[in-house]
Amino acid sequence: MDADVIVVGLGSVGAMTSWRLAEIHGARVVGVERHALGHDAGGYAGESRLFRTGYHESPEYVPMLLQARDLWQELEQGGQRTLFHPSGVLSIGAATIAPMRNVLASVQQHGIPHEVLDAAELKSRFPQHGSITDEIGVLDRLGGVLRPESAVQEALRRARRAGAELIDNAPVTGIEAVPGGVRVSTARGVRTAKHVVITAGAWAAQLLPELREFIDIRPLVLTWFAPENPKQYAPEVFPGFIRDLGDVHLFGVPSVDGALVKAGWADAWGSIDDPAELTRFLEPSALSGVGREVHTLVPDLPAHPSRHSVHMDSYTPDRRAVIGAVRPGVAVVAGLSGHGFKLAPAFAEIAARLALGLPQQHDISLFAPDRFGG
Ligand SMILES: Cc1cc2nc3c(=O)[nH]c(=O)nc-3n(C[C@H](O)[C@H](O)[C@H](O)COP(=O)(O)OP(=O)(O)OC[C@H]3O[C@@H](n4cnc5c(N)ncnc54)[C@H](O)[C@@H]3O)c2cc1C
Repeated sequence: MDADVIVVGLGSVGAMTSWRLAEIHGARVVGVERHALGHDAGGYAGESRLFRTGYHESPEYVPMLLQARDLWQELEQGGQRTLFHPSGVLSIGAATIAPMRNVLASVQQHGIPHEVLDAAELKSRFPQHGSITDEIGVLDRLGGVLRPESAVQEALRRARRAGAELIDNAPVTGIEAVPGGVRVSTARGVRTAKHVVITAGAWAAQLLPELREFIDIRPLVLTWFAPENPKQYAPEVFPGFIRDLGDVHLFGVPSVDGALVKAGWADAWGSIDDPAELTRFLEPSALSGVGREVHTLVPDLPAHPSRHSVHMDSYTPDRRAVIGAVRPGVAVVAGLSGHGFKLAPAFAEIAARLALGLPQQHDISLFAPDRFGG
């Protein structure tokens, strides 16, 4: 066998899995990536990702989120790259809606440092936000902004330093069982290992057709706006935010370049059958809806974005990732459903433990690949 574990796909989770396996668990690792290492077609591209522990999705994620936060720090402390801006994250919405109840339950049940602001306090503390009526704000003080491209590069550096062999520009074309392990065919040769972890993001169902019936590939569009006064949007004074108005879910990120503010509209962009179909440039007319919402809710930002970029992620019907063994010697982590970057190092630790047969630190049954039947 060439390795203990082959990691297929060196994006968000794959880079972290290679790091955890090689450096922390001392495994012999081969990582294989279809594009250049750190390319811009992965689910992690686009400059920033929100990290939050006041969790709209469910408070049950919080223990894993806290572990992920520690692991981000561990990754950052070992290198020369800034991976996290501790800006906090502000959730804004009516106190009665389910996402806000989940945010409150997350911070209250798990002792997360936070502040609850009524509408008047919101307006005076964060005047950047407009059209506040009866909403509340929950400021998650452990939240912040991750730098995903740097994080992927740093994890790959750490994996390589710990002895991992990382192969770029080598799409994996086949995975088959052999005695005692698995054989992985790539555009740059064949490798064998005792185990394979597939972390291929939006491409996962190409390698595991059994995922196709429940994994959906969705484009997500990021838009950046030029504020009148960029200093009001620096990470020190402007927390990342999510504003939930029922039919509009706006997210925003403080200005990490000191010039533009990223704000976007989650879940408004349909789905595609194949990653190759992704349209990476949109006409200005396609961005007018998101521009209008951004300008209404953050009036200092203009109604037209200065730039945009189009990315994609794999979604499951319940928006929980799919993590577990799918065939002998083969485990998968996919379907991160638009909120998985922050959890990538925790998912990577789970994947490493699956591959090495080590006990898990969390209940991973909620991510079981067979929960949709079939
Ligand atoms: C625009 C956008 C905004 C988001 N915002 C947030 C946020 O604020 N907070 C948050 O927590 N999450 C967020 N997410 C979600 C998060 O970024 C994704 O869930 C996560 O990056 C997906 O990671 P992944 O490892 O599954 O896929 P990827 O990072 O895409 O990695 C998959 C890798 O596998 C490679 N690959 C695919 N097929 C093969 C093959 N056959 N052979 C070899 N290599 C292969 C790909 O090239 C790629 O490098 C966002 C996602 C998007 C798209």
